[in-house]
Amino acid sequence: MKKLLPVLIICAVFFSGCGPKMQKETRFIMDTYVTIQAPGGKEVMPAIEAAFKRLKEINVKFNVLNPDSPFFEFNRTGKPIEDKECVDLIKLSLAQCELTGGAFDITVKPVVELWGFYNNNHRVPKEQELKAAMANVGWRNIAVKNGKIVKLKPGAQIDLGAVAKGYAVGEAVKVLKGAGIKSALVDAGGDIYTIGTNGKKKWSIGIKHPRKEGLLGGLELDPDITVATSGDYERFFEVDGVRYCHIFDPKTGYPAKNGIISITVITTDATLADVYSTALFVMGTKKALEFANTKKTLEVIIVTDKEEILYSDGLKEGLGKK
Ligand code: AMP
Ligand code: MG
Repeated sequence: MKKLLPVLIICAVFFSGCGPKMQKETRFIMDTYVTIQAPGGKEVMPAIEAAFKRLKEINVKFNVLNPDSPFFEFNRTGKPIEDKECVDLIKLSLAQCELTGGAFDITVKPVVELWGFYNNNHRVPKEQELKAAMANVGWRNIAVKNGKIVKLKPGAQIDLGAVAKGYAVGEAVKVLKGAGIKSALVDAGGDIYTIGTNGKKKWSIGIKHPRKEGLLGGLELDPDITVATSGDYERFFEVDGVRYCHIFDPKTGYPAKNGIISITVITTDATLADVYSTALFVMGTKKALEFANTKKTLEVIIVTDKEEILYSDGLKEGLGKK
């Protein structure tokens, strides 16, 4: 039987102003606003500061567009990467490429670039251009051999946009816990992790509505739960009334349009939450629900292109039930 994640959906989120004293710090990192909050006085600030320092490190290392990232050189010249942290994340990512049937694919970079998502020079490419870019897409073109990340095809390139933020959140959480923090909320633009509770209450978060201002709803989360959302409303452009978003179907090279406009995943590992939100968006409604329903600690909330809201079985069975 499927183990229900300890999560409760509520219709509206009430952010009560009368909780414990809170330290809250927001900084712009990884192309998004990252907020870390923890109940307490000034004594919790060094831990928050250390977590931000770690986030900044990761932001450089795993931002494939930053010349100081080993992935920048790797993408340009194929210079193998030995750094253990990089190797570990690529191993995890490649395993997920396989487990998601290629819906998640860290080699989509040539396609993301062609559609202009790196420099906001958006355009619909010609078939011929797309074909040429797609010739280098495919996670089997990358491997870890003798402890190094290598290209098996010279044109292959890595993009970690769908996984680095989740990984960063997980690392920030490790730093906070390592510094003795028993209660905190880390939110990197929708990639969220809860440590402990917010005083006597659970942490509550809001999920954005993909088409309207404001929230779709809220979630109250137990400790050590992570949430990530992927949607076609985050980064997109429109031509002739057609919306093209930043999440690509690696099989076609086109922005994924498989019935989902937003998917929120709720699970226990921040890196996997990020992977799954992207992968399940690509898979589409039916496969995404099937995928979630086979995993014990994965629940999803989908908004379809008809603006219906669908839930995985664990959420349908009874909210908050153990
Ligand atoms: P997310 O917002 O987590 O869904 O990640 C989207 C980002 O990941 C995009 O901006 C691309 O850089 C990259 N990306 C797009 N499509 C995919 C895909 N199918 N698999 C892996 N990464 C992707
Ligand atoms: Mg993702």
